[in-house]
Amino acid sequence: MNREPLVFVGTSDLAGLVRGKGFPAAELPRRMRRGVGLTHSNIMMSAFGPIYETPFGTEGDLVLMPDPTTKVEVGFDDAAERFYLADILTTDGDHWECCPRHFLRRALTALNDLDTQAGLSLLAAFEQEFVYTGVEDRPGATYALDAHRRQGTFGESYMAALRAAGLTPDSFLPEYGARQYEVTIDPTRGLRAADEAVIQREMARAVAHRLGNRAIFAPILDPDGVGNGTHIHFSLRDGADRPVFHDPARPYGLTPIGEHFVAGLLYHLPVLTAITAPSAVSYYRLRPNRWAPTWANIGVQDRGASIRVCPIFGKDGAAQQFNVEFRVADAAASPYLALGALVWAGVDGIRQRRPLPAPPERNFWEMSEAERQAAGVRALPRSLCQALDGLAASEAAREWFGELFFDVYLRFKRAELRAVDGRSETATCARYAEIY
Ligand code: GLU
Ligand code: MG
Repeated sequence: MNREPLVFVGTSDLAGLVRGKGFPAAELPRRMRRGVGLTHSNIMMSAFGPIYETPFGTEGDLVLMPDPTTKVEVGFDDAAERFYLADILTTDGDHWECCPRHFLRRALTALNDLDTQAGLSLLAAFEQEFVYTGVEDRPGATYALDAHRRQGTFGESYMAALRAAGLTPDSFLPEYGARQYEVTIDPTRGLRAADEAVIQREMARAVAHRLGNRAIFAPILDPDGVGNGTHIHFSLRDGADRPVFHDPARPYGLTPIGEHFVAGLLYHLPVLTAITAPSAVSYYRLRPNRWAPTWANIGVQDRGASIRVCPIFGKDGAAQQFNVEFRVADAAASPYLALGALVWAGVDGIRQRRPLPAPPERNFWEMSEAERQAAGVRALPRSLCQALDGLAASEAAREWFGELFFDVYLRFKRAELRAVDGRSETATCARYAEIY
C-alpha cells in the first residue's frame, strides 16, 4: 500500500496532554509559515475529552504555530513520529493570552529583564517517573537489576528515541514503585527545557506503544502505592552564561540571588501546587512515607522536602553542578505551566528580595506537626479543591496568568474535579491512568 508521511503540530495544553492537528508532510513549508487552525475552546478540552465548560463558545479562530526548534522526527518500524510543538497565536499573529507555552516564555522574559540583575536565564532538567506496563509487578523488584532486565528492549529503544529526537538522556532506572521507571535528561535552557520534558514523555509513550504496552505518567495508579513524580531541577545563569546559584559559604549553599529565587518558590508554594500538581489524584501522591513532599519546606539533600538542595558530586565544577530540585510537580501538569509557575514565583522572590528561613536546628522529620507549624512551615494542600481555592485567592498568580487566563484555568480545573466527583480514590486513579 502506498503511504505518505504525516506531520503533527500540537502543544502540551491545560490538561498536560499534547493535542493539535496533523497534515501531509508535503504541506510543511506552508504550515511553518501559516500554522494550523484552532478554535479558542480547544484549550478547554478536559483531560477526559469533553469540553465541560468554556467561556469561548464555538466561535473564533486561532493558529497553532509550529516552532522549528522543536522538530521531532524519529523512525520506528511502523509509522515514524513526526511532530512539532507550537505556540497558540491569534489570527493577527500575536501570542494568545491563554497559550501555555507563552505563559512560560513571559516568565522567562521577566527573569531576563529584572532591574536588579539583567540577563538571568534558567537552566532546568526534568526527572520523570512513570509506570511501564510491559513488566509484571514482582515483590522486591524496586531498584533491582532484575527489574532493569525485565523491561526488555524498552529502555534501550527509549534511549535511542530520545537521542534521535535531539535530547541527551542522563539516566534510566527501575524505581521504588510497582513497575515504575524513571528517566532523566540533561539540563537545558528555558523554553527548551519544557519542550524537552514534553518530548521526553511522548517518546516514552511512543516506544511503549510500539511494544504493545503503555508508559503511564499518571500521578499515582494505586492510592496506597507510590506516585509518579516529575521533579524539576533548576539553577540560574547570568548574561555571560556563568552559574550564579552557588556559594558554599552561605546557608543552603545559595548565593543571595539564588536564595531570593528559591524563597519565592517557598513563599508561593501552596499556590504553585494548584499548577504543578493539578489533578484530583495528584493529592493522593502528596502523602507521607512515599518520598513525595507533604510540607512546603526546603531541605538540604532531603527527598521528603518540597524543595531539595541537591548534592555536589566530587570536587570539580561545584558551581556548574549545583542545582535545586522542585518535587511538587507531576505529569498532569503541562511542563510549560509547571516551569512557568516556578519561574514566576522565583522572579517574585528576587523582586521582593525574599529571604529563606534559617536552616532548622533540628531534623525536620523529628519535629511534631505543631512544631513545624510554629516554625512557620505550612502543610501542602490536601486536595485539588483546596489548592484551587488557594490559587484563586492569590493576587500574584492572577498577575502571572493575566485576568482571562486565570479565570480559564480555574474554570477548567474545577470542571475536571466535578467530573470525578463521587468516585472512590481507586476508581479516580483508574480514570487518570487511562489518560496519562
Ligand atoms: N516517587 C516519588 C515521587 O512521587 C519520588 C521518589 C524519588 O525520590 O525518586 O515524587
Ligand atoms: Mg525518582
